[in-house]
Amino acid sequence: MSAIQIMKKNRLLIIVGVVYATLFATYPQQASKAVSNSVYYLVEMFEVLPVIFILTVIIEAWIPKEVIIKRFGEKSGFMGNMLSLMLGSISAGPIYAAFPISKMLLSKGASVANVVIVLSSWAVIKVPMLANEAKFLGVQFMAVRWILTVVAIFLMAYIIGRLIKKENMTVSIEDHEKEWLEVKKEYCIGCGICVKLLPDVYELNQNKAQVKALPVKGKYIEAIQQSIEKCPTKAITFYGDKTT
Ligand code: SF4
Repeated sequence: MSAIQIMKKNRLLIIVGVVYATLFATYPQQASKAVSNSVYYLVEMFEVLPVIFILTVIIEAWIPKEVIIKRFGEKSGFMGNMLSLMLGSISAGPIYAAFPISKMLLSKGASVANVVIVLSSWAVIKVPMLANEAKFLGVQFMAVRWILTVVAIFLMAYIIGRLIKKENMTVSIEDHEKEWLEVKKEYCIGCGICVKLLPDVYELNQNKAQVKALPVKGKYIEAIQQSIEKCPTKAITFYGDKTT
């Protein structure tokens, strides 16, 4: 990698460095205060993030994709919204800890709207925060703010869910594409039945079937159902509404 590429990749860090250098040259006192604040937050991040990454990996490995899609996916409805609200509300830790978890939820099939609810409730209506709010500002204040905030969060989730599609986000498109049809390699014995039935959809790779290209859902839906039924090891999984 050339020096220019390295600089391009780290441009944000370089800009911050230049700002600090300018600050030290002009306002040294404020600059050292800013550095100590930055160090404080960096230490906090290093303390929190490893735990969050471990938690993300555990959720990713232990909670099946089907569960995430059913509970937090596009068709999870009001219950999915409420579950997301609960998940965000009982969480602990700063808001930046919510981002890796949100990304994992999205890539496993959660809807954009539900991730907005998780993030927003994590940020502004966490249970420990509400307890403190009631203590310092009164129960009535906390309750009214909570109700209005929840209404605003649901409204925001609905609007963002309509405006932003997963395809436009930095979520792995490969993960997203597997959302409704997947071949579990560990179960596949490479018999090739699915490939014979739907050569446009499945292919064999190193004696294991895989989804080659996702067709328009409605067009192949019956043939896909057939491939699922005919697979001798039940290695093909279809997620979501089978009528679409
Ligand atoms: S039918 Fe099932 S076992 Fe056979 S290749 Fe396809 S996925 Fe694998």
